[in-house]
Amino acid sequence: MPINGKVALVTGAAQGIGRGIALRLAKDGADIALVDVKGDKLAAVAKEIEALGRKTTTFIADVGKRDQVYAAIDHAEKMLGGFDVMVNNAGIAQVNPIAEVTPEEVDRIFKINIEGVLWGIQAAAAKFKARGGKGKIINASSIAGHDGFAMLGVYSATKFAVRALTQAAAKEYASAGITVNAYCPGIVGTDMWVEIDARFAELTGAPKGETYRKYVEGIALGRAQTPEDVAGLVSFLAGPDSDYITGQAILTDGGIVYR
Ligand code: NAD
Repeated sequence: MPINGKVALVTGAAQGIGRGIALRLAKDGADIALVDVKGDKLAAVAKEIEALGRKTTTFIADVGKRDQVYAAIDHAEKMLGGFDVMVNNAGIAQVNPIAEVTPEEVDRIFKINIEGVLWGIQAAAAKFKARGGKGKIINASSIAGHDGFAMLGVYSATKFAVRALTQAAAKEYASAGITVNAYCPGIVGTDMWVEIDARFAELTGAPKGETYRKYVEGIALGRAQTPEDVAGLVSFLAGPDSDYITGQAILTDGGIVYR
């Protein structure tokens, strides 16, 4: 098991991609701290981790709040006896044409998708340094972090920002032995896409399910992505085979965006 005995913290772990990553890193041998705003759902994921024979702990935190992110990491270290991998996965989507975007929407999504990742990087690196060890930081970007998508302009901006933070942090923390990378999924069939599809239907009059179907049709490998597909890349980035990789935002999308 590649990360046997390590401790990983996953934000947005209550469902979707975050849950998939948490389960995969547990299968890889890590003990897992699960962080989200949805406490009841976190408890269910914790049970699944325990069934895999790993230790786990849950912590309710809003990643947009800096002090809560620091507290989540302190909690993980205290409860699980270490801290080695930080997965800044929590994020929200927003579908609106540029002409309709409001300041309130921008504030909310920037706070969660950009500040959430920034505080996660900052707090994790501080903890790795305080423990005198190396560490791995892994951030959620997107295909929308490589190309700006229509109706998803502000969301795309936040995912471009995650790439910028990933590159800058990789340069700043390399000398401490800390690597910082990002994963860029494509079209993953989670609740996030249920919301995106419903909002497209509202805005364009497309039947429900149509936008998701169209996006999936455009994938070279011919199927929607699963959280397990994403978790495979995150497992690699969390393990020793990626030790010489830093500052990268790696696409895992079945063939949508080519870089
Ligand atoms: P999801 O909506 O199914 O799950 C997101 C989780 O994050 C939820 O459990 C939610 O409660 C949590 N969360 C939201 N705001 C939070 C906050 N402020 N503090 C703590 N937790 C919070 O979404 P998902 O599809 O699993 O997406 C996970 C990540 O992957 C996101 O960053 C998303 O932008 C990114 N992503 C998703 C897709 C996709 O197709 N679904 C594609 C590319 C990137």
